[in-house]
Formats: sequence, structure tokens, C-alpha cells
Amino acid sequence: MTETKHNWTKEEILEIYNKPLMELMYDAATIHREYHDPLEVQVSSLISIKTGGCSEDCGYCPQAARYHTGIEKNDLMSVDTVKEMASNAKESGASRVCLGAAWRNVENNEDFDNVLDMVKEVNSMNMEVCCTLGMLSQDQARRLKEAGLYAYNHNLDSSEDFYKEIISTRGYDDRLKTIEHAQKEGIHVCSGGIIGMGEDENDRVGMLYTLSNMTPHPGSVPINGLVPVPGTPLEEQKPVEIWDMVRMIATARIVMPKAEVRLSAGRQHMSKEGQAMCFMAGASSIFAGDKLLTTPNPEYNEDMELFKILGVKPKEAFTAGEQPETKASYKEVAEEGREKWSRPAHDIDRNIEATEKGKAARRELKEEIK
Ligand code: SF4
Repeated sequence: MTETKHNWTKEEILEIYNKPLMELMYDAATIHREYHDPLEVQVSSLISIKTGGCSEDCGYCPQAARYHTGIEKNDLMSVDTVKEMASNAKESGASRVCLGAAWRNVENNEDFDNVLDMVKEVNSMNMEVCCTLGMLSQDQARRLKEAGLYAYNHNLDSSEDFYKEIISTRGYDDRLKTIEHAQKEGIHVCSGGIIGMGEDENDRVGMLYTLSNMTPHPGSVPINGLVPVPGTPLEEQKPVEIWDMVRMIATARIVMPKAEVRLSAGRQHMSKEGQAMCFMAGASSIFAGDKLLTTPNPEYNEDMELFKILGVKPKEAFTAGEQPETKASYKEVAEEGREKWSRPAHDIDRNIEATEKGKAARRELKEEIK
């Protein structure tokens, strides 16, 4: 069996990334078969439990309050709605549900208590529950685990260097700290990033370098192609070429052989053949449902049609780890000091431009209304 390494160098990863594509795909497909059943793909359903109005400035995100993308801010969904959506997703073949809230960080409040109840309920439906709620303290990670959380998503987005070009309101170290909190509680980590934001190949490799040097490797590595949304600073970015997506997935597969490499955002613009190449290159999971938080995604039926063509079937839940047990103690908050998150002082020109553009648009609208 191919060795699982945690001491990759950037040079080694770059060499893999730059192999001739046909060789790279073959190597990745070979390793994929050692660790995974290539005829199984995990189907995850992403539910946006609290949409929009986020205080952060992630340059790709339509949910950031400052970008005027027309996304309305919603309150937290009810536990019953989440249960119903999870049940529908299960019927459609999903074995995992990811609950996403547009928060900078989790607060110990009623909303978080409700999220914990959602985790408990979905876990009791024998589905893997993943949450993506922003930054997390150690005690919050403990409570999520005790509620029955299987995985926590916290993407690195890109390399440490390029991260500063995209987000100014928090630092890379904060991301790593949250990942560490989840790992310490025995929660599977889901962490990956986005390509097509204007980064170069060293940034792509830099991100895989950080992820592949974690012990253990993240259980899940989402690779997203940027969906440029009008109103965000990255609205003018060109769609990612399928070849870049395949290359990135194959490299992730080789350096983190056991991980579920997740073909994530950007599938809406991929052909069936392109997606098939991604599965050949080691993608073992997709997000399903007609929306990924706020951006379009293929419908379940289209995915099932593609699975049929490829002879692939949806993976069962808990093939890579045991189902967590829900413990009553998830309701108890430990006495702990407030987590100190960093707030980097750097500005990003295109973020400032986008904010100004939004302000001008609002001024014009006010004038028109007068
Ligand atoms: S990616 Fe998350 S943290 Fe960043 S603006 Fe969007 S919702 Fe907020």
C-alpha cells in the first residue's frame, strides 16, 4: 500500500502537480483504488441554516454583508425544517449533511444551542453531520462532538500567502486554531479551498502542503472552483478550466490518500465528461442539491443520472469512522475565557473598491426613490 506521509515538501507536491496530466491521473487513480472503492461516491447535502449578513470580507463570498449581492439576511432555520431537509436528502441518496451558517465565529447563545439540537437530530437519522459555522473555541468543539457531530468544515481557502489577498478580517492562524480544536475533540476535519481566485500554482500547492502535513490528514478535502458572483470583488474572475480542477483533485488524492476528496462548488459549469474525469482522478465525494449555500449546483436527479452512466453508487454513512454518540453533556457550557481571534490590519484594494461600489449603488437608489 502507498505510504501515507505527513512530511511532504512543497517541491515534492509541485512536482506531482506538474506531471503530464495523463500520468498524474493514472497515479492518482491507482492510489485511489488502494484506499477507496472507485465505484462509490459520497453524496453530501449542504443546508444553509443561516444565510447572509456576515461581517467578514472573504472576497469570493456573496454572503458577506458588505458586498451588495442581493442575498437577503435570514435568521437561523428551525430544527424541524433542518430535520425535514435532511430526511429528504437521505431519501435522495445523501449519507452526509453539512449545516452551514454565515458566522464569523460561534457564540455561546440560543442560536448555537439550536444548532446543537440540529446536530443531535440529524445524527439520530444515521447520517454523518458536518457543520461549518466559522471559528470555534475548544469548548464549543467539545459540545458539538457531544451532540453527535461527525465532521467540522473550516476551509483554508488557499495558501497562507494568498489568503491575505482574499480576506483581511481574520488570519490563517485562526483557521488552523479552529481545525486544531476540532481535531482535539476527535471530530473529523473537512478542509480544502477554492481555485480560480487569481492564485498561482504555488498557492494551490501551498494549500495542499499545509493540509497534507497535518496529522491526521483532514478526513475530507473539498476542492471548489470559484463561482464568481456579481457584486463580490472576484466577480470578474474567469471560470476555472476543467484541467486545473482535475490536476488539483489528483494532487490532493496522491498527497492525502485516505481523505474524501470532494468535488465541490463549480460543478454546475462542468460537463458530465469533466466530472467523470474528476472521479477518475480520485474525487470520492460531491455536494448534491440544486444550491450550494447560495450558488447554483446540479440537481439530485442529474447527479443520479451521471452515477448510473458511470456505474457508481452513493456511499453509505460512517465508512471512514464510527457514528458519534450523543451525550446529554452537550448542553453544558464550560467556564472558559473568551477566545482571542486575531484581526489582521491589512486592507485589500479590491475589497475596498467593492465596498465603495456598493455604497455608490445604494446612494443612487436612494436618489431614485426620492
Ligand atoms: S465565507 Fe463564511 S466567513 Fe467568509 S464572508 Fe462568507 S459566510 Fe462569512
